[in-house]
Amino acid sequence: MPRYTTILSLRFPLVSKEDALAIAHALIAARRPSAIYTPNAEIAMRAARSPAFLDTLNRADLLLPDGIGISLAAKRQGVTLPRLPGIDFAEALLATAPRPYRLFLLGARPGIAVTAGRMLSRRYPHITICGCQDGYYAPDMAHAVATAIRAAEPDLLFVCLGSPRQEEWIAVHRPPCLAIGLGGAFDVWSGAVRRAPRAVQSAGMEWLWRTLRQPSRLSRLPALAAFSARVLLSPRAERVENCQKER
Ligand code: UDP
Repeated sequence: MPRYTTILSLRFPLVSKEDALAIAHALIAARRPSAIYTPNAEIAMRAARSPAFLDTLNRADLLLPDGIGISLAAKRQGVTLPRLPGIDFAEALLATAPRPYRLFLLGARPGIAVTAGRMLSRRYPHITICGCQDGYYAPDMAHAVATAIRAAEPDLLFVCLGSPRQEEWIAVHRPPCLAIGLGGAFDVWSGAVRRAPRAVQSAGMEWLWRTLRQPSRLSRLPALAAFSARVLLSPRAERVENCQKER
């Protein structure tokens, strides 16, 4: 029975990276609509303010702790939940694919997903990129985009539309494959955005690096402050549970 830790009502399973990879490969093998989301502190705060979004996140097959804030919150509860950035998990999933997965890339500015796909094809030649679609299509194209993704018959769908759009897109369209919400991953894979150096990542300061390099992200700092006040500085209110996941 999986154990979970609850952070602002978000239920994170206490699984290692290897366990998470095994779960993801099993979901792909099952060929049914499934979802993995990668919340950070900002996403957790949005969920704390929106019961509908919280429900969407908790219906995922797996939540991975993308941000250092989630790991620190877990530590306060006495549990170890190492940070597992979605972008690293996604690459590990491609690297350990037991067969040539078909991968569809949805999101980011026009041209970025295609460039990211080319880079992933070079790095993981056993993966087939079965389609790319940017994340700025007109609203009246939504149905056609979802239909094109189904027709491409992906095993795996990476969705980079930003949060909450990417999680809501996955929950609404339920493509018959494993879909993973990955924020700005295509921007990094395409080379449009540089990721923080390893040392900065290890120090848990990737959020600061990204804020300094993309000042538009300054608007996200209040959510981080609110998360710190609610979860990191308040008395311990959350808990670790042994429970079977409700779906
Ligand atoms: N994006 C998109 N469509 C939109 C809004 C955003 O495709 O309508 C993309 C945006 O171009 C970027 C990604 O969504 O590639 C969000 O990246 P961000 O760095 O904000 O995500 P984070 O990694 O912080 O979750």
